[in-house]
Amino acid sequence: MIADLHVHSSKSNCASPNMNLEAIITSAVNRGLEGIGLTDHLHPFTQKSIFTKTQRELEQLDALSLAIWLGVEADVLTLEGAIVGEPGLDIPVDYVLAGVHHFHLPWVERPDNEEPLNDALYKAHRQVMGAIRNPLVNALAHPWSGVAKYAKLAGFCYDYVKLEWLEEESEEARKAHKALEIPTWALFDKDGAISESFLSAIVRPLIQFGCPLYIGTDAHEPNRVGAKVKETLDVLLSEGATMEQFWLPPVGTK
Ligand SMILES: [Zn+2]
Ligand SMILES: [Zn+2]
Repeated sequence: MIADLHVHSSKSNCASPNMNLEAIITSAVNRGLEGIGLTDHLHPFTQKSIFTKTQRELEQLDALSLAIWLGVEADVLTLEGAIVGEPGLDIPVDYVLAGVHHFHLPWVERPDNEEPLNDALYKAHRQVMGAIRNPLVNALAHPWSGVAKYAKLAGFCYDYVKLEWLEEESEEARKAHKALEIPTWALFDKDGAISESFLSAIVRPLIQFGCPLYIGTDAHEPNRVGAKVKETLDVLLSEGATMEQFWLPPVGTK
């Protein structure tokens, strides 16, 4: 299935006010998607009622030509992988994305700025492992690409992510039936060129180690919904990923 499983609606404060269901679905259909997952942020201060509201909006839609899941992107709060809302999430979602490496958010525990880069990255790896093991979590949003966006780890490049870490993450994810995201924005730069460093240092090892994967755009505006999803799928398949390696959320809302 060609699916974009990481999309923010206007109920996420950081998303465009134009991200209503109609605009999201129109963009997804125009891009030829067969499925989308709505994954608004769950920050510590988020009103949980936004998820109930979206659930009601989805129930009122007529039959659609694509599958829609209602998910959530919950901040991973600690380096051990605890997420917002524990112990019980108490929201009506089909799946939970752990937003790992949200180190730019003040309420999220992060590596120290002064420590050697390798030690900081080991903590980032530990957070991924903790999130995979967290029973509330179904899949992980932007592992490692989130680190690349955190300016304080300015010396970071994907080559610094150790193969043994990716192997360990893949093995744990396989065992726990959790999936790691391949963000379209990390694989393709703004000009549409493939990021060779992300491909060789992260994507190829995850494929080789048999890690369950899914594709997400992290769209915050309508024209980003589904952008480069097909192209990303093509790259992953041409690099040896199998269709069985792609994860889908358990039950569809629509
Ligand atoms: Zn995120
Ligand atoms: Zn997101």
